[in-house]
Amino acid sequence: MKHLEDSIKTLKGIGDKLKNLYEKLSIFSLWDLLFYYPRTYFEYPMPIDECSQISDGETVALRIQVHESCKNNKTRRMEITTLNTFCGETPIQMIWFRSPYIKNQIQLHETYIFYGVIKSDGYSRKKMEQPILYTEEKYEKELSTLQPIYGLTKGLTNNQVKKNLHSLLEEDTFLEFLPEKYIHKRNLESFSHSIKQIHFPDSFEELRNARNRLVYDEFLTFFLNMEKMKENEEAIINHFSFSKEDYYKKCLQRLPFELTEGQKSCLEEIKSDFQGEFISQRLIQGDVGSGKTIIAFLLMTLVVENGYQAAIMAPTEILARQHYETFCNYIKSFELPFEAVFLTGSFTAAQKRKIYEKLSSEEPIFIIGTNALIQEKANYDNLALVITDEQHRFGVKQRDTFRKKGNMPFTLVMSATPIPRTLSMILYGDMNISVISDVPAKRLPIKNAVIKPKEVEEAYRFIYRQIHEGRQAYVICPLVEASEKTESENVLDYGKKLREYYKGSVSVGVLHGRMSADEKQSVMEDFLNKNIDILVSTTVVEVGVNVPNATVMLIENANRFGLAQLHQLRGRVGRGEWQSYCMFVDSSKEEKNKRLEVISKSNDGFYVASEDLKLRGPGDFYGIRQSGEFDFSLADIYQDGNLMQYASEDAKEIIKDDPSLSKEEHKALKDFLLQLSSHQYTNL
Ligand code: ADP
Ligand code: MG
Repeated sequence: MKHLEDSIKTLKGIGDKLKNLYEKLSIFSLWDLLFYYPRTYFEYPMPIDECSQISDGETVALRIQVHESCKNNKTRRMEITTLNTFCGETPIQMIWFRSPYIKNQIQLHETYIFYGVIKSDGYSRKKMEQPILYTEEKYEKELSTLQPIYGLTKGLTNNQVKKNLHSLLEEDTFLEFLPEKYIHKRNLESFSHSIKQIHFPDSFEELRNARNRLVYDEFLTFFLNMEKMKENEEAIINHFSFSKEDYYKKCLQRLPFELTEGQKSCLEEIKSDFQGEFISQRLIQGDVGSGKTIIAFLLMTLVVENGYQAAIMAPTEILARQHYETFCNYIKSFELPFEAVFLTGSFTAAQKRKIYEKLSSEEPIFIIGTNALIQEKANYDNLALVITDEQHRFGVKQRDTFRKKGNMPFTLVMSATPIPRTLSMILYGDMNISVISDVPAKRLPIKNAVIKPKEVEEAYRFIYRQIHEGRQAYVICPLVEASEKTESENVLDYGKKLREYYKGSVSVGVLHGRMSADEKQSVMEDFLNKNIDILVSTTVVEVGVNVPNATVMLIENANRFGLAQLHQLRGRVGRGEWQSYCMFVDSSKEEKNKRLEVISKSNDGFYVASEDLKLRGPGDFYGIRQSGEFDFSLADIYQDGNLMQYASEDAKEIIKDDPSLSKEEHKALKDFLLQLSSHQYTNL
């Protein structure tokens, strides 16, 4: 039995070179490799007997009876083997390079499977280069298997990862850590069997069972940690007093718009939390554009005017800075006698020190920042409220660290992820939940369209007309710069292309994650101040960015994004009083992309999420996962609702029965949890 915390170098065949490659994928220990799940699986296609309907470029398996023999031809450069045959009624030529031995493997009048890419040779004949040859029997075997496909890095091949995992999995049986009782009750496979099957499934059925077990494990460990956290915590008396609300009311009166019913009731709920006997936590859930920022600001005002500090943390510097600027503007226009401070990781040590001093002073201030707010050096002395914006971008741990800053402040987390209430109640444990279910009334629903790459110029002309009317546009590309691996659009080349296209009649800016904080900030400012008409950007604008004057979004290679992400991206437009538009460019070969159909049909995040789920067949549960939700690597809160419910019940039962997990039957489970958490820390 190996020690899973050992370095992967203890594995046969892994030397320094491989070790370095694996490190790029954050794989350091055997444990890391064991839990490096396949990204997806490859299935061989069913063989077909007629290929006339197959279009060029498709990978297929052809069943062909051979009636002519192979010919080996030597050219000056290499040896070429050809085989003329028919697939059904369609003539097709098989071609192999430098593989003369193929000739001996093919017997006349026998039937074989030829696996490869179909091309037409310009006439009525088709061809296949370098097809892989199988006997019918052998192909039958391949058909029942699923081949794992791993995320890779340059220099590391899929076969290499498979080989290393084989040798890790082969020799060992892995200890069962789940009490027999739950394995039985929930009808689960053993851990050892499941971890092997997830990498090398014998069948689809086996894969599904293996995945169920591992998903259950993820949920169970999540809920065990949550229950243990709760166990150690006593209710904290609310010593804060929120008796003043003059400035809060003044802000309400001066708001440039009427709050929606959802916003109003959300505010009331939190205000009544503030009057409660104990400190509490609340989740505010509202779709993109439902107006969560103003809620944060109003509550922070209330806190500050009562003499305390209030802090809000955002997942990206762009968003944090935008909040800071919004808040400064509000403070000015509502004439509040309070200061707002901003903290981000890219500040110099001296700048940070100055802000740290403010945090640990008792001065009642607005505090806005990135996760720099929860670094060790940030100490607070007078904090009564912490807010985490776009909480799904943070881990549970970060949220918890924030909550424990200062003297146990009230906690709010804001999320745009559409999770059904029953699920959020389980996932967020003891948190209260407020839902903002309406969006500001005056807003016009975004108009959507799916277009093909050849229609893009028309989109450019449309964008031009919008700019002419005073509006602005986003163009989203998947990549920063050109890549050898894919033909997806990239921000740098696209920016150039648009500049050439518009010949100086509009101004084009680019934004991506590799720019320095200062560069990003200046681009965002230029966009906000209308010095930039079209912002070509990666998904760095995905979360929270608010430029209401931008009314058009064009998403290149939209078929490459997940639906949840597209919905978040689209949420950047439709924020002001003007009609907004979102165009999804479908660069796939399919005639109609089903997922893009869904998103273009509805602006409702709940609808999009539920349709997304329906579209994911049993085979592609690896397909498009919701972005980083709760750090689960396999589990999907939408799809695995049942397992989540079970795991939550079981975790409660286990902790109730044995809070410190010291009973004999929980020993292995405790060890597993310890290993899991130590592993998570070492990788941070
Ligand atoms: P999100 O919920 O996605 O964080 P924001 O808070 O960024 O949304 O709000 C989006 C835009 O809507 C902002 O420009 C904000 O000023 C505006 N807004 C917020 N509440 C209302 C309202 N009740 N009526 C009109 N506009 C509003
Ligand atoms: Mg927001």
